Amino acid sequence: MSYDKNNIFAKILRKEISCKKIFENEHVLSFHDVNPQKKIHALVIPKGEYVDLDDFNQRASDHEIVALSKAITEVAKILGISVDIGKGYRALTNLSEHGGQEVSHLHFHLFGGEKVGKMVE
Ligand code: AMP
Repeated sequence: MSYDKNNIFAKILRKEISCKKIFENEHVLSFHDVNPQKKIHALVIPKGEYVDLDDFNQRASDHEIVALSKAITEVAKILGISVDIGKGYRALTNLSEHGGQEVSHLHFHLFGGEKVGKMVE
């Protein structure tokens, strides 16, 4: 699938739509999910144009890949849910149709602040 520049997260990155920002650096933006599924529900996205994790791992630089991975832990610390200062959390990403992906810009969900529950329904 080719990247759709009109997806909602691309609009957030271009500041055409606002978000409740948690963290930002050169390669990554994190913000609260607009429709939280748990007490804490954050999203972590790369700034580059990647449709999903497979696309990212095939085309992103090592620097971008490391930055996104480290940002997940950084955001968890900011939110107080990381393993060292909190009680843990779930990080997941959906890919395409069977994964249930709705927004076609790679994003990791971080769920926490309470027991997250069953892994899949
Ligand atoms: P997915 O089904 O994995 O593609 O998840 C997309 C997520 O994006 C959902 O949890 C939505 O609630 C969330 N979402 C959609 N629009 C916005 C927005 N404008 N700001 C923050 N989160 C959003």
